[in-house]
Formats: sequence, C-alpha cells, structure tokens
Amino acid sequence: MIVVDKNKCVGCGLCTGACSFGAIAMEGKLPVIGDTCVFCEECVKACPVQALTNDSIAVRKQDFGAYAGMWAVMEMNNERGQLQKVSLELLSEAKRLADMLGEKVSAVLLCSDVPEDFEENAAEIGCDNVYIVKNDVLEQYDTERYTSAICALARQYKPAGILFPATENGRDLAPRVSCRLQVGLTADCTALDIDAERNLVQIRPTYGGNIMASIISPNHRPQLASVRPNVLLVNHAAKPAETKFTYVDMEMGVQDGRVKFLKAVEKDNVFRDVGEAGIVISGGYGIGDAESFRVLQKLAVRMDAAVGATRKAVDEGWAPFDVQVGQTGKTVAPELYIACGISGALQHTIGIKNAKHIIAINADPAAPIFAMSDVAIMGDAVQVLSKLCDRVEKYGRDTLLAGKE
Ligand SMILES: Cc1cc2nc3c(=O)[nH]c(=O)nc-3n(C[C@H](O)[C@H](O)[C@H](O)COP(=O)(O)OP(=O)(O)OC[C@H]3O[C@@H](n4cnc5c(N)ncnc54)[C@H](O)[C@@H]3O)c2cc1C
Repeated sequence: MIVVDKNKCVGCGLCTGACSFGAIAMEGKLPVIGDTCVFCEECVKACPVQALTNDSIAVRKQDFGAYAGMWAVMEMNNERGQLQKVSLELLSEAKRLADMLGEKVSAVLLCSDVPEDFEENAAEIGCDNVYIVKNDVLEQYDTERYTSAICALARQYKPAGILFPATENGRDLAPRVSCRLQVGLTADCTALDIDAERNLVQIRPTYGGNIMASIISPNHRPQLASVRPNVLLVNHAAKPAETKFTYVDMEMGVQDGRVKFLKAVEKDNVFRDVGEAGIVISGGYGIGDAESFRVLQKLAVRMDAAVGATRKAVDEGWAPFDVQVGQTGKTVAPELYIACGISGALQHTIGIKNAKHIIAINADPAAPIFAMSDVAIMGDAVQVLSKLCDRVEKYGRDTLLAGKE
C-alpha cells in the first residue's frame, strides 16, 4: 500500500502526474491513492519531500492474524447463465482446506444474475458464506471491474486464501488481484494442502513436469492460487450447509470501465470447449496432415464430441491452441477420450489423468499411450477413424457407444 505522510506532503501534486495509471487524485492539498494503483512506486520516486512510501509488506505482517477462511471465486458461463463446472470443483476444495484449518469456506460470485441452482449447489458442497456482487455491468467478464471488486471484498472480509479458476478469465484476473493486493500467486496448481504452520501449500509441476514444487506464502495474506478445470473433484458435504448469502453493494463507476465489451463471437462448433465435453477425440502428429485431421473432426461432429490435439498437432496448425490437451494446454475429464496418433508423452497424458475411459489408436505397438488405455487399437489412425465414421453413420452414435455394434 502506498502511504502518504501528511506531515511531510507539501501538496505539490507531482505524484499525480507521475502516475501512469490515474490512481492518484488530489483531495484538497493531499494525494489520495485509488484502487488502480499497481505499486510501481513512480509516485514515490517523483515526490520531492519523500512524503510517499510503499509499506505493503509491513502492513501485511502486522495484519496477519485478521485473515481467516478459504474463498473460491466462481466463474459464470454467461451465454448459458450457469456456473462453470470448475467453480464447484474449487468450492469443494476450498471447503476441504477450510475444514483442515477449522475455518469457514466462502464463495465469491460476481454476476448480473445469480444462477438458479446456485443456492442449492453451494449448500450441498457445505459452503458457509456466499459474497455476491450483482450488477448489470458484470454480465460479461471485465478485467478492471472484476479485479476491483475481488480486491475490495478481500480487503473488507480478509480471507486467508483465495482459489481462482485457471481458465482464460481466471488467468487474467488472478495476477491482477495478486498485484493489487501485493501478495503472491501460484498459477495452475494440481494439488493443495495445509502445512503445520497453517500455510496453504500450493503444489504444481515444474521443470517440464519432472518435479512437483510445493510453494507457500508464509509472509503474506491472502494466499492466492489458481487451479485448472477438471483437476479437482466436486464433493458434497455429509449434510448440506445453511449458507449465508451476503449481497455486497459496490460502486461500478465509469472509471472502472476502461475496457469495453463489444460482442461475443461463437467458437467454431468443431473446436468447442474440450474442458466441458463428455467425449474428446484428440489427434496427434501421427494423423499425418491437415487433410487427415479433418477426418477426425468429421467423427467428432458425428459423435457430438469435442476435438482435442497434442502440442505437435497444434504446432503443425491442424488445430487451434485452445484445444491443446496437456501440461501447457487444457486438462480434460471426459467420460471417453480417444487418442489418435498420439505417442503418450508425459506432457500430454498429464492432461488426461481424470478421463474415465481412454481408447488409443496408434501404429506402434510400443507406444506409451497404450499403457494407460482401456482399449488399444493398433493400426493407421486415419483408416480407423474413417471406419468409425462409417459405423456411426450406419448404426448411430448411441448404439456404437453402447458397444452393440
Ligand atoms: C515444457 C513442455 C510442455 C509441453 N506441453 C505439452 C502439452 O500441453 N500437450 C502436448 O500434447 N504436448 C506437450 N508437450 C510436447 C510433448 O512432450 C510431446 O512432444 C507431444 O505431446 C507429442 O505429440 P504427439 O504424440 O502428437 O507426437 P509424437 O510423439 O511424434 O507421436 C506420434 C505418434 O503417432 C504414431 N503414429 C505415426 N503414424 C501413425 C499412423 N499412421 N497411425 C497411427 N499412429 C501413428 C506414432 O507411433 C507416435 O506414437 C510439451 C513439451 C514440453 C517440453
């Protein structure tokens, strides 16, 4: 936090000009630091009488005992007016961690409309509190407004830890919040724990997935971590909680809206969200070329499946990056994952650990992917895919999935 020493300040206003973020306004003869401050300290440097200081760390240590409880930040699918599945995964994990601490678990929801089944879902997971900021301008995700709202809630209610979804929006939001609150953030955690000193242990792969790093923030609160969709499970509490809903009034003024939402563009139907799909058919380098990759896409459409890809297939330009599955792509947890022409490198298979059933099609009997598959089909992937396409056409998707043909 940037602190103004009223006794030293001469009201020259040089600090307002030095701030590139418009975060400082003069109230009378004194500068007031606003929410858009990113602690770059340009104002501190510009002050000729050393009236400004950044005392963030001192404040955090001093306030440490006031922070309690685990929060999970909810993410909405605005088109469907529903929560994304990852929200409930995070809430379940926050509940588990809060129970370990003997503290409360809270959900934070920023929205224009509360989803119908939210109350029931929160109670079933055992959520103690829900903080809701409801405003029409929150219908679409907006970096500035969402950051300001989460920071304001965190400053007011002081949670010990906040879990964010490692989605596109969450990956945008969490670092902003971490910078504003001047605390650390561990992105893309695959597991979380509490240590003997009550720190949140944030576990994530590092060095190309060869090492699992356990990271703590012992000197700062709140502790921030993001977790990818499909890494955690949704767990229901033994007994539903009596969740308390708190609607928090918050100014969402014009100064908070420098980013303007123009329109939402529907994704190409074939390349839909791999993270939410029940069936994912993924192609690797063994598919051969872009033309052959289209056979895989054809099967995906017929089976109402999402198309996934390995990094090599994405690098070849056969599929967009947002359907890449694996360490640097998405984690998926479908009922059925069909891996076509994929070797089974660790960086890929780390993203399919939670798939219920895996079918692998590969020309090499020694391909590592076969070791983790329920069904192994040895052969040319494109030929097998073409045959599957014909069969789905002839017998229908459901008959084929039921194993009747
Ligand atoms: C830091 C880091 C992060 C990474 N992140 C990711 C990630 O997120 N996701 C990811 O996927 N990779 C990632 N990778 C790359 C990963 O290590 C592998 O290189 C990649 O997954 C291999 O892709 P592939 O299986 O398509 O290709 P290959 O390993 O080349 O395998 C092709 C397979 O196709 C088979 N094949 C060949 N011809 C045919 C045919 N006609 N029919 C059937 N099968 C055939 C071969 O037998 C082989 O098994 C990462 C790597 C690093 C270093």
